Amino acid sequence: MNRQALDDLKQQIPLMGYLQAHDWQPARPLSRGRWMGLCPLHEDRQPSFLVDPNQDLFYCYGCGRGGDVIRFAELYHQVKFPQAVEWLRQWRGAEPLLHEVARFYRVQFHRHSKAVAYLYQRGIRSPALIEHMQIGYAPGGCLRGWLTQLGHSLPILRQAGLVTDVGYDAYVRRIVFPLEGNLYGRSLSAAAPPHRFLPGAKGGLYSWKQAQSYPEVILVEGLFDYAVLWQAGFHNVTCSLGTHLNARQFRQLCDGTRTVYLAFDADRNGSGQQAAQCLSRSLRERGITACCVSLPDGHDPNSFFVQGGDARHFQSLLEAALP
Ligand SMILES: [Zn+2]
Repeated sequence: MNRQALDDLKQQIPLMGYLQAHDWQPARPLSRGRWMGLCPLHEDRQPSFLVDPNQDLFYCYGCGRGGDVIRFAELYHQVKFPQAVEWLRQWRGAEPLLHEVARFYRVQFHRHSKAVAYLYQRGIRSPALIEHMQIGYAPGGCLRGWLTQLGHSLPILRQAGLVTDVGYDAYVRRIVFPLEGNLYGRSLSAAAPPHRFLPGAKGGLYSWKQAQSYPEVILVEGLFDYAVLWQAGFHNVTCSLGTHLNARQFRQLCDGTRTVYLAFDADRNGSGQQAAQCLSRSLRERGITACCVSLPDGHDPNSFFVQGGDARHFQSLLEAALP
């Protein structure tokens, strides 16, 4: 990539916007339009991270690092310069494309009664919830045609993982949930792998902006768990999309004073509980109160509600949760 292309890339991704898309919040204004906030690159308690949106530069007085958006991506994602550039190029192109895809799948959802029936069977009934999660449906066999008609080239669609190498829609008969920079697809058919993501990171905690402000947060491993809890009125719920949290998700949970209730699956082999125990220890080391919720054997929050559990009953499990 030549100098000009790098300059174009930087110009198309303003540092401030990129930081805020990664949950950075300006805490205090300075002169000449500059801002201070907590440093996303090191453990920061006093805002020591300075951002100059006019020059698109940052500098941290705590860890002494600074530079442009590419330097930030290198440090934040812990990759080398060429990977950081590649990462930013994909980020620049992927966001509008994924929005378009998610919108297309939302329209499909209402045309396919199978999709509605599947959600119903998983306990998801509230139109407000379907709207809140922007749930869509990928029937397969129609996305590629629609996107190419809109002018998106096949190599771009392949690179985004929306179309397979041989040119078919990657998501077929899947309920689709838009994530930050990705799409999660849950298969309706038992013959296909149940969970799919597009290539790339799964992003931060699901709907963290909403859950963040609560002093008590419920963390679940799957989006269907998230859905039934939200529907039952627990809007302080978030989801890690698996029992293993990435570094960003862990940082998010630790970004304030709160109690975290870990409501992972009560798998018969104990793997969910083990993951919860392990995570609760790491959280406690960071000064976060963490409690493990005991679901009835073999249940996850989704099956708990599907099989007749209600909000009051789940509340009593929260109250009985042990640190
Ligand atoms: Zn720093």
